[in-house]
Amino acid sequence: MPRRSRALVLASTLALGLSACGSGSTDGGADAEGSADLQVVASFYPVQYLVERVAGEHAEVSSLTAPGVDPHSLELSPRDVGSLGDADLVVYSAGMQAAVDDAVESQVDDTALDVAPAADLLSVSETEEEHAGHSEEGDEDREHEGDEGHEGHDHGSEDPHFWLDPERYGHVVEAIADRLVEVDPDHAADYEANAASVVEDLDALDADFEQGLADCTSRDLVTTHEAFGYLAERYDLHQMGITGISPEAEPSAARLAEISSQVEELGVTTIYAEPILTNAIARTVAQETGTRVLTLDPLGGITEESAGEDYLEVMRANLEALSDGLGCS
Ligand SMILES: [Zn+2]
Repeated sequence: MPRRSRALVLASTLALGLSACGSGSTDGGADAEGSADLQVVASFYPVQYLVERVAGEHAEVSSLTAPGVDPHSLELSPRDVGSLGDADLVVYSAGMQAAVDDAVESQVDDTALDVAPAADLLSVSETEEEHAGHSEEGDEDREHEGDEGHEGHDHGSEDPHFWLDPERYGHVVEAIADRLVEVDPDHAADYEANAASVVEDLDALDADFEQGLADCTSRDLVTTHEAFGYLAERYDLHQMGITGISPEAEPSAARLAEISSQVEELGVTTIYAEPILTNAIARTVAQETGTRVLTLDPLGGITEESAGEDYLEVMRANLEALSDGLGCS
């Protein structure tokens, strides 16, 4: 059922958003009839959000990843795969979702846009160097232990979570706008203006993070899956993931013991869990170490559990949770 109706709901939500901001005149009736010019398929929420904002009323955008589904473990039906061939544009990030990469390869030729190059992804080994660098400050064994914690990656060699760094995310906005201008030059001015407005929002968000995380008691960020590497890098935090880059990987008893002792040594007060994954692991570590659990949302999708209605709102909720848990003033 839902792909089409979901897209329509999204389209009309977007229409409301646009008129509320006074940018762009939207004919809600046209959207409700699904007569937007372009049919665009996005692979998952962070990409969908940008396409919706940049395309505005000129596209009907659907997402391959339903809200509440962990984007990492997405599976596609034959119908989903078939829908890619009909779209005017498919926007995805190679290396994030294996099912999407395969579907794009088999169904889509020149109508696909891979945003990963614009996001300037870092290899996971660069993230590990980061860990090693930090380990000198405290536990001399952490460099070695960090390697163990990274077993079980299934993403390939690059960290795919670029959208959690507003600056990297902003580069993706520009790539999407450029492609929309190419596909639909008649509305080039709208795409460029919309992109500029998103980049402005992301700059403001970045400034808020910069300021909000400038002065904190702790810079050690303990998460379940390591989605926040780019965010940590940008705001000078040190991420320690309990399960590594891949959320499905089950941490070993040894890894849990190791992270618990790091938490105690570093005086960490807060373990960060995620809304759509099971929080059992975070709770186990918190119980063992007498710390508390707060939510940090990696923005795989917006659901009723989300702390906001869209990317910007949830990121601001994330900033509050970070500021609270890390003791920032
Ligand atoms: Zn992830």
